[in-house]
Amino acid sequence: MSHGLPAPRANAYRDAWNGDLRAADAGSEKRVAGWVHRRRDHGGLIFIDLRDRTGLLQLVINPEAGGELFTAAEHLRSEHVITVTGAIETRDAQNVNPNMPTGEIELRVATLEVLATAETPPFPVDSETKVSEEIRLKHRAIDLRRQGLRDALILRSQITNVMRQDLVEQGFLEIETPILTRSTPEGARDFLVPSRNSPGSVYALPQSPQLFKQLLMMGGLERYYQIARCFRDEDLRADRQPEFTQLDIEMSFVTEDDVIAEMERLMTKVFEVGGLDVAPAPWPRMNYDEALLKYGNDRPDLRFGLEIKDISEAISGSDFKVFESVIAGGGVVRAINAGQREFPRKELDNLNEVAQRHGGKAVAWAFVQEDGTWRSPIAKFLGEERMKAANEVLEASTGDLLIFVGDQAKVVAPVLSALRLHLAAHFGLVPEGEHSITWIVDFPMFEYNEDEGRWDALHHPFTAPTGDLSDPGSLRSRAYDLVVDGSELGGGSIRINDPAVQSRVLEILGIDADEAQDRFGFLLDALKYGAPPHGGIAFGIDRIAATCAGRESIRDVIAFPKTATGGDPLTGAPDAVDAKQLRELGLKSLVAEPGAPAA
Ligand code: ASP
Repeated sequence: MSHGLPAPRANAYRDAWNGDLRAADAGSEKRVAGWVHRRRDHGGLIFIDLRDRTGLLQLVINPEAGGELFTAAEHLRSEHVITVTGAIETRDAQNVNPNMPTGEIELRVATLEVLATAETPPFPVDSETKVSEEIRLKHRAIDLRRQGLRDALILRSQITNVMRQDLVEQGFLEIETPILTRSTPEGARDFLVPSRNSPGSVYALPQSPQLFKQLLMMGGLERYYQIARCFRDEDLRADRQPEFTQLDIEMSFVTEDDVIAEMERLMTKVFEVGGLDVAPAPWPRMNYDEALLKYGNDRPDLRFGLEIKDISEAISGSDFKVFESVIAGGGVVRAINAGQREFPRKELDNLNEVAQRHGGKAVAWAFVQEDGTWRSPIAKFLGEERMKAANEVLEASTGDLLIFVGDQAKVVAPVLSALRLHLAAHFGLVPEGEHSITWIVDFPMFEYNEDEGRWDALHHPFTAPTGDLSDPGSLRSRAYDLVVDGSELGGGSIRINDPAVQSRVLEILGIDADEAQDRFGFLLDALKYGAPPHGGIAFGIDRIAATCAGRESIRDVIAFPKTATGGDPLTGAPDAVDAKQLRELGLKSLVAEPGAPAA
């Protein structure tokens, strides 16, 4: 990748970048600087690989160069910081290293100055040595010297650059919104900051700039963007960070088609820079209901088939009690045709575990035989006709492996989604280097939360609903998500710009007028004074960078991430504070020592 640096201003340390030097420079004198990547003593000569951000350059020091210089070179150790001058020379043919951009040349050292010495680093600065993440995070300054992380951060910076460039060209204004603020509901817990001036009161860190960007539209600024840090205090399952970065966007006088078209232009450029080969825009749009039915979730990985199909009707009326009672209870039986597969018993048992981990009970399976009947523990209860009817729905033929789950649709969807991903990984069905992209649209506005007996907003409470406001379960929302390879890279919506609708939506969520005024009065008031139709979106920059860089974890594209438990091994945050500081804030700790449960 291009290092993106202009030629350096010649000074006492350098007049060239290591990585830029080529055979054409042979014969010229150069001054370069950096870290001693490696030293080799070979045939009476000393070879040094000198590293800077742009790459490696081989230095040679021969004994004739003078005793002092040679001795100094002999004392060089890994990670010493040096500056050297000397002539660029082409290497002998047998010494050319075709794997290194500077592999045809070397710098014959005439002067050498040690700018800083280094103790033996806690791990070698190369890409090969495996080092635990805890250690890498603790010594991040060393880890940053390794090529993998450096390249990922360069790529990330190129991605944010192209975002800025495009948005500036399109007249978007970069505007900062507060970090110390009040709660913005995005469905997570807030991080709170106690106020010293007003003991007992707290600021919340923003879960997103949502309400502020809407106010900017009501303020007539038309087009806003921000590379915004957001904070969500969630249980850190999977690959989450308590603070993360979003490209946050809002536009006035737009419909979903406008936002989507603008974002397709922008994201095409981002994926180009990121080297992610997606289909040319416009990208397909899939309804939420279709995604849930066919893939079991609203961020389907479309790089492989294994579509989920509903076979409730095909198999209903059988003697198989489990499925019958599910169907009688308003549930569904859905299945995946995994194709012609060998699948030993043990693997079939594993599927039960996958199902249970995702809230299911059990998985049934069958292999289709030549006459269309099934080899399956449930075959004898079903009868030939039902098996054949199910085969038809599943487009199944001889030898195909079928996987079934029966339960309430809400349970079946995530279980089959997990099984689908499990089977794809197991059978190696995810094609390398291929990417799938789709918009998901037409979401339900609310989801019923059985545990708490109330409605939750599927997106957030400021998303514009469509349909009959007196029937929450029937409302759809004007939201859209962009999904690449099964992960949601961005999501947004057209917002409510009618104060009555906004109040009604808050009311459905169980927030009465007084509470609404207390928590969101500033938004409700602004809505009263003429709010334009507006909408926007936010993209997860960490996730985009990780996807483009081909990294599993977003921690690999964040300079200073937290661990999976939210800790920072580098600084030791979070940490206890002393009693005095707490007192100033009007606080008293309920735990005996940090990490202990509250008394
Ligand atoms: N505020 C939303 C989020 O952070 C994005 C949006 O609706 O623009 O997910």
